[in-house]
Amino acid sequence: MTSGTAQTDEREQHPVTALRGVGDALAKVLARLGVTQVQDLLFLLPQRYEDRTRIVPMGELVPGSSAVVEGEIQLAEVAFRRRRQLLVRLSDGSGFITLRFFHFSSQQQQALARGIRLRCFGEVRRGPLGLEIVHPEYRQVRAAETVDGNSLTPVYPATEGLTQGRLRQLVKLALAELRPPTGAVRDWLPSQALAGLAENGGALPTLREALEFVHHPDVDADQQLLFEGRHPAQRRLAFEELLAHQLSLRLRKLKAGSEAASPLTDAAGLSARLIQSLPFKLTSAQARACDEVDHDLSAGQPMLRLVQGDVGSGKTVVAAAAAARAAGSGAQVALMAPTELLAEQHWRNFDTWFKAVGLPVALLTGSQPARSRRSARAAIASGEIQIVIGTHALFQDGINFTNLALIIVDEQHRFGVQQRLTLQEKGQAAGRVPHQLIMTATPIPRTLAMTAYADLDISVIDELPPGRTPVKTVVLSEQRRHEVVERIHHACREGRQAYWVCPLIEESEELEYQAAEETRDQLAEALPHLNVGLVHGRQPAAQKEATMADFKANHIQLLVATTVIEVGVDVPNATVMVIENAERMGLAQLHQLRGRVGRGAAASMCVLLYRAPLSQLARARLNAIRETSDGFEIARRDLDLRGPGEMLGTRQTGLAQLRVADLLRDQDLLPAVQRAAALILERYPDSIAPLTARWIGAGERYGRVG
Ligand code: ADP
Ligand code: MG
Repeated sequence: MTSGTAQTDEREQHPVTALRGVGDALAKVLARLGVTQVQDLLFLLPQRYEDRTRIVPMGELVPGSSAVVEGEIQLAEVAFRRRRQLLVRLSDGSGFITLRFFHFSSQQQQALARGIRLRCFGEVRRGPLGLEIVHPEYRQVRAAETVDGNSLTPVYPATEGLTQGRLRQLVKLALAELRPPTGAVRDWLPSQALAGLAENGGALPTLREALEFVHHPDVDADQQLLFEGRHPAQRRLAFEELLAHQLSLRLRKLKAGSEAASPLTDAAGLSARLIQSLPFKLTSAQARACDEVDHDLSAGQPMLRLVQGDVGSGKTVVAAAAAARAAGSGAQVALMAPTELLAEQHWRNFDTWFKAVGLPVALLTGSQPARSRRSARAAIASGEIQIVIGTHALFQDGINFTNLALIIVDEQHRFGVQQRLTLQEKGQAAGRVPHQLIMTATPIPRTLAMTAYADLDISVIDELPPGRTPVKTVVLSEQRRHEVVERIHHACREGRQAYWVCPLIEESEELEYQAAEETRDQLAEALPHLNVGLVHGRQPAAQKEATMADFKANHIQLLVATTVIEVGVDVPNATVMVIENAERMGLAQLHQLRGRVGRGAAASMCVLLYRAPLSQLARARLNAIRETSDGFEIARRDLDLRGPGEMLGTRQTGLAQLRVADLLRDQDLLPAVQRAAALILERYPDSIAPLTARWIGAGERYGRVG
């Protein structure tokens, strides 16, 4: 490795337009994928691979698989079956297949004439005319043209206006460009960084070898490893990617340590008064988290702290105590919630708690009437209001704080790191950076947390408030729905309340709302003496809020909802949670939903309704949720069942999109990543900028580097 700063005349840093055939128009399209330099093409990594090394005889095709087929067109016709479509019948002597096009040009239609020989690729499925491929990739071939039998075909992230074929070509060009002797992609890792990372006795491949491989994996490579993302080449890249993120976050933390924030000493003693006036005593875990927060807030550097606690562990109070400390120091505080419903709920809690200490709390959401928005804005700008709760609308332009010293973000996984940054900039005034408190219910093991949140200090609330009775969970076929209705009837007669969560219909929001409305009608008919309410995502915010308020006040006993109530809703009197089509939901989501009940002293129940037949995976999932209510344990089982990759996606960690690494799958790399980050920060600071630039696009960078 050569040391020294990155030089702009290095080939890898040339703009993509330096490549043959890439003009301004194409450059623009590529920019949408974050590709502006030649090297960006190399680091645009395939999302998956397809095996196109073998032409499959049509007689051997299996529905549901993707395959290359080749044959002669026997018939091509435009048909009208509901929609106008082009049907092409292809035969290879062993059988035939239909190609179906819903979108086609007249040129295309002419080119697909009888007698023409085509090679196609696509997913084979059963159609009305036998096996078919809808919108295959295809091209005309001469007889006896060979297939590329050597390497698997990479599939890249897609963007409009750029075909996979063109992308593959461009990547090939970029690879050729950077091959020695004319060029080389620069390896910024000091060799010690990779020490001890040998795979099965052999060292990890070099950066160039790794890149060459992932873009053109040899067909003889271990495909299992490759598809799972565990191939040494992928691990070499994953290591570097994790390292880049780690460096970026660590720099951010270092930077925060050198920045000035207002020390919040709460001379007015508001925080203590607020805690005194609560109707309950803090758990020792809450008290500990409050102490840690207080300690940070009293310092002259910005706090960057994550409070992690399972659903129902009582994070809101910790936030309120921090807010009181800021207000008691004469400063402003903003709490940002991921949805309007939650903002509203927090506002209600805060409003009640802060009334006891004589402070007003403002609410600010996007759908508020213009007039109340205006007056809230004015009160914020004049400093008359110190505590503001809202959605991300809080940080839109036109809202100015006079003295914002603390930002609280609830359910952090809904916001990205980037949003946190924007928000921080917003509060930056007179050389002072606001403190940040982030609250999340996502259970995350310690080593992962140290990576995903390397810029944050962490407090854990590992204890639930006392007096909770565990929620009883039952799994029932939906044919036993009437028993569930009976159960609700019973609970409500005793003064309790219930939730009924309707299935998520991914294909159509419209259908989802219709189904929810139907369910509401049916339940209202079956339970005529109850007030049945409905909340779903498409209702105007005011309507949702009114319904939630009615539910909270027990004017509504049964609340039918789509999954909008997933996060954070708190109505302790509700003791029954019914979840329809529970077999379709993920474990984390079920856990969150179940967390809505069991918040008071009364015994609660969660009913998981499923539609038979249950797949093995769905059965295992439902069993897991029935058997345990520990968030960490559920996260662990989730990992076992689904395999890594999904649970801690971007959404949940707040880490920017990872291209090749996966925090869970690559956990074993993390200690080495941490060590390498420390080494580079100390001895090779010049590597930081090029590494982070390479892996973290300019738009998502965590603060300026270098
Ligand atoms: P979460 O951590 O999921 O955000 P909340 O802050 O909504 O949890 O708290 C859940 C419920 O527990 C609320 O009704 C809250 O008032 C109550 N609660 C919080 N702390 C305590 C405590 N120390 N003792 C009793 N109840 C508490
Ligand atoms: Mg909460």
